[in-house]
Amino acid sequence: MSKVAVNLRVKGLVQGVGFRPFVYRIALVAGIKGWVNNDNLGVSIVAEGNADAVAQFKSALVNELPAAAYIAEIQEERVEIQNFESFNILQSNNHSDEVTEVSPDIAVCEDCLRDMRAQSHRIAYPFINCTNCGPRFTIIRALPYDRHQTTMDVFEMCDTCRSEYEAVTDRRFHAQPVACNHCGPTYQIHGHDVTSSDIAKVVSIWLDEGKIIALKGLGGFHLLCDATNNVAVTTLRQRKNREGKPMAVMMLSTEAAEQYFFMSGEERSTLTSWRRPIVLLRNKHSLAQSVSNGMNTTGIVLPYMPFHYQLFENLKTPAIVLTSGNFSDEPVVIDNALAKSDLGSIADHFVSYNRAIHNRADDSVVMVVAEKERMIRRSRAYVPASIAIQIPTEGIFAAGAELVNTFAIGKGSTAILSQHIGDLKNAPTFEFYQESIGRFSSLFRFTPSLVACDLHPDYMSSAFAEKMNIPLEYVQHHHAHIAACMAEHKLDRKVIGIAFDGTGLGDDGTIWGGEFFVCDLSAYERKYYFDPVPLPGGDRVTEEPWRTAVSYLYKYLGPTVFDQELAFLYDIPKEKIQLLLQAIDKGLNCPLSSGAGRLFDAVAALTGICTHSSFHAEAPMRLEAAIVKDCKSKYLFDIEDKRITFMKLFYLILKDMRNGITQDVISAKFHNTMLAVMLTVSRKLKAETGINSVVLSGGSFQNRYLLENALHMFQEQGFEVYAHEKVPSNDGGIALGQMAVAAKRRAEKQSN
Ligand code: ZN
Ligand code: ZN
Ligand code: FE
Repeated sequence: MSKVAVNLRVKGLVQGVGFRPFVYRIALVAGIKGWVNNDNLGVSIVAEGNADAVAQFKSALVNELPAAAYIAEIQEERVEIQNFESFNILQSNNHSDEVTEVSPDIAVCEDCLRDMRAQSHRIAYPFINCTNCGPRFTIIRALPYDRHQTTMDVFEMCDTCRSEYEAVTDRRFHAQPVACNHCGPTYQIHGHDVTSSDIAKVVSIWLDEGKIIALKGLGGFHLLCDATNNVAVTTLRQRKNREGKPMAVMMLSTEAAEQYFFMSGEERSTLTSWRRPIVLLRNKHSLAQSVSNGMNTTGIVLPYMPFHYQLFENLKTPAIVLTSGNFSDEPVVIDNALAKSDLGSIADHFVSYNRAIHNRADDSVVMVVAEKERMIRRSRAYVPASIAIQIPTEGIFAAGAELVNTFAIGKGSTAILSQHIGDLKNAPTFEFYQESIGRFSSLFRFTPSLVACDLHPDYMSSAFAEKMNIPLEYVQHHHAHIAACMAEHKLDRKVIGIAFDGTGLGDDGTIWGGEFFVCDLSAYERKYYFDPVPLPGGDRVTEEPWRTAVSYLYKYLGPTVFDQELAFLYDIPKEKIQLLLQAIDKGLNCPLSSGAGRLFDAVAALTGICTHSSFHAEAPMRLEAAIVKDCKSKYLFDIEDKRITFMKLFYLILKDMRNGITQDVISAKFHNTMLAVMLTVSRKLKAETGINSVVLSGGSFQNRYLLENALHMFQEQGFEVYAHEKVPSNDGGIALGQMAVAAKRRAEKQSN
């Protein structure tokens, strides 16, 4: 049979995921000669052999990929036969500004867990890794991905590790962070002289005793305590200033988690995936009361670092709280010295290791709704995987939103989203934002030529964008939300966009957030929206939802409604309410808002479920947690011109309350009303425009009940319905939407 030779250029996630050793192995199996090398474009292969062998090799290339690798594109070209005598892995090349992808961090693999018991130089070694697992994004400084470009550069490989690193058939061949007990990083307990092999044991004893531990993780410090010990959890809350927010919990296995939580097949595979996100599971039996604090779900994560597994070898408790090592709203601490000073007042003991974290990454958080993973916080193990947009994005920087900021850079026709950054109003968080933009720009060789930002002039991200002094594209907040979801699903046409959200500036200067758009990627029409209400006290309504409830009642039912006994205003002085009403009349610090989040707030307050909120979105979360099962009834609403009005809703809720209808039923009826609003308005828009595709986005779709039932309802009613999977429906997804809108507008301008 005649010999052929091809050059295959492979793009996608093909570096730092064991791709070259994999290519080497399948080349040996198929009897292929030639070479493979890494460059900043991806991986290039020359494969020489008879036609059958080359075909076998090509099919193995796509069908037998390592777990974390993925191929976006293979370009194939016939090349001249050079009669190679063997197959080789060549040195990394480095050219052009077009770069390949960087692998996210990968949870420790089964083989490495076995090696921790079997390999003499790695017995109980807590930094064990191989080409299929270990740190990646959190330790990388520059491309191509080589040891000297990572924070492993200060550790010199011992002879054993080096021989594995250089042996093409070894699982650690070119595993950049390869290390062992003789040469690699080590853990230390501050102020305690404990031999490294005993550290995990000592820490687990402390945890079982109820102590709080600061532990350096993969992308930042964590705070740990026994999740079955209410005193420990409450103490951690107090010291951390984290009054009500639910905390994530680590458990050894899905079997252990199933004792306490309900788990679907999809939730099980998400929990055990190499990404190891925190998965929100529905409570079955509670851990310490203070862990989920009244919510009906808990965030569960399985161990992903070797050290985590070592802890569970000795722990008596089945569950430990694993919360970010920071004070509320500040970025998670990554620096050893800073951690000691910052977390010293929170933790009883302090455990770190001597390898630096270069890129900070919080744990990612997801939930599974309608059998699909839905992102709540996209960070460790997802970032910096790119998201294909299919419109040229090169040179576009998307600045993101304000509160749960992420930013994005455009490469080729993809968006590379940053890790979760946080609330930019916090000075340390804004520093982290700027630092990360610098790091992404240098890592991905990115030079911005166009910047996209939110309309809101007070967002730190908008101010940052304006200072860049390059062409700027403003993107309305809810248009960005819808565009993000469209981009994920590669929708480049007109759709019905439903944005149910907290807050975002509209193009008329008022606050929006209960929006029905007819839009495409470049423009939108605001077709219908929630009737705007004044928010007495402005931003204060997010902490005091009772204010919004008062405003709705006043607007729809008039001043006399306050003559009756309203339980939710029990501890608010009458004069304070009168002052509030006067402020509304005079329009003093009472911005108008159509935000859906505010309507959820108002109902949560009115029913007494949450009148004061101690963390972001607490009121709607508690309202959702209250929903009674299997209630199909709902309240009424009206559509007046373009406004969706809720006079009947509030009248009927008050009537239900007077009749002793319980909170759980009222909450269910309210949620069902929101579903009815979506369907009624979408049918009207479909009749007006003929558009049958509905796109759902905005923070309110983190509500499992709302999302699950909306998807079901629209499908049942013959709509095509799209919701987020890859990026959050909250403001963490805004940067992707800004990117898509800016890319589309630029493409349209260029074609004109
Ligand atoms: Zn491994
Ligand atoms: Zn070694
Ligand atoms: Fe938003």
